[in-house]
Amino acid sequence: MRHNWTKEEVLDIYNKPLMDLLYEAATIHRASHNPNQVQVSTLLSIKTGGCPEDCGYCPQAARYHTDIEGNDLMSVQQVKAQALRAKSSGSSRVCMGAAWRNVKDGPEFDQVLEMVRTINKLDMEVCCTLGMITENQAKRLAEAGLYAYNHNLDSSEEYYKEVISTRGYQDRLDTIDNVRKTNVTVCSGGIIGMGESAEDRAGMLVALASLSPQPESTPINALVAVEGTPLEEQQPVSIWDMVRMVATTRIVMPQTQVRLSAGRTQMTREGQAMCFFAGANSIFAGDKLLTTPNPDVNEDMEMFKLLGLEPMKPFVKKAQPETVEAQYSEYKALGEKPKWTRPGHTIERNEEAKAAAKSVKA
Ligand code: SF4
Repeated sequence: MRHNWTKEEVLDIYNKPLMDLLYEAATIHRASHNPNQVQVSTLLSIKTGGCPEDCGYCPQAARYHTDIEGNDLMSVQQVKAQALRAKSSGSSRVCMGAAWRNVKDGPEFDQVLEMVRTINKLDMEVCCTLGMITENQAKRLAEAGLYAYNHNLDSSEEYYKEVISTRGYQDRLDTIDNVRKTNVTVCSGGIIGMGESAEDRAGMLVALASLSPQPESTPINALVAVEGTPLEEQQPVSIWDMVRMVATTRIVMPQTQVRLSAGRTQMTREGQAMCFFAGANSIFAGDKLLTTPNPDVNEDMEMFKLLGLEPMKPFVKKAQPETVEAQYSEYKALGEKPKWTRPGHTIERNEEAKAAAKSVKA
């Protein structure tokens, strides 16, 4: 396990002749993972839209004009019903996403903690992606039985500034650091196809691989360009780029679960099979990924049958956490108001999309 990869080394791997790259990645993959097992996760958008951030790829940002329907925080019962449905169709993990800048102590966070307790008791891995969190909030999530916290780096530090201006790269790293002060595993990855260079892709992998320990899970997303967002005109990423990115991720992070995430609807089964061979061993199931389309779960199960893959059982990599009930909690809400940064640099295309949205709404 190396934490000192340089961008040049990672770029050399990424640019290898494809057959060499696939062979090396598959060899490393087989040394640490069962190549015929793939984790199936279900992503639930527990609070959709109305986000104050300006991530240029995201239809949930309130400032862009997109067609998504926002909703307030779901109830614990709604989440439980969806988790049970996901479990019955083969999912071992539920990821709950809320379109928040950061977590705020209060009744909504308490409700999320209850969702975590409820799903952990269904013997499923529970993951949350709720924006930036403090150490105390991470501890409260851990105590409720959270298995993983997702917070993506999105891209290289340099290219990140071309996509997001409302919070800094360091804020992202600080949240990951807060999660690392608990027993909760880290899920962090990024998106390709946002206009970044191969150097930026390598830079993101260097940043992820430098974390010690490395993330237990790394989603590799292909941008789904949504009308109304600043990145609406980006062309779909090629399958070859996706395969190279998955294989390079596998080589620099041998133990990590590499997750094929957004953009799978644009990939053929042959393309996905190549990604599994190159080291991807996790997918998101369900017809929607937060707000963008995703293959139907039955189609995925047909693909698994065709390729001889089987869904991974939960808690293979790490034991199930215990759930502490709210009344016995050691940690209380502190009502903190952390100073997450707002770099505030101007991203022309984000400004243009914001202005266009204003004129449509007027
Ligand atoms: S990616 Fe998350 S933080 Fe960024 S705008 Fe979308 S919901 Fe908000």
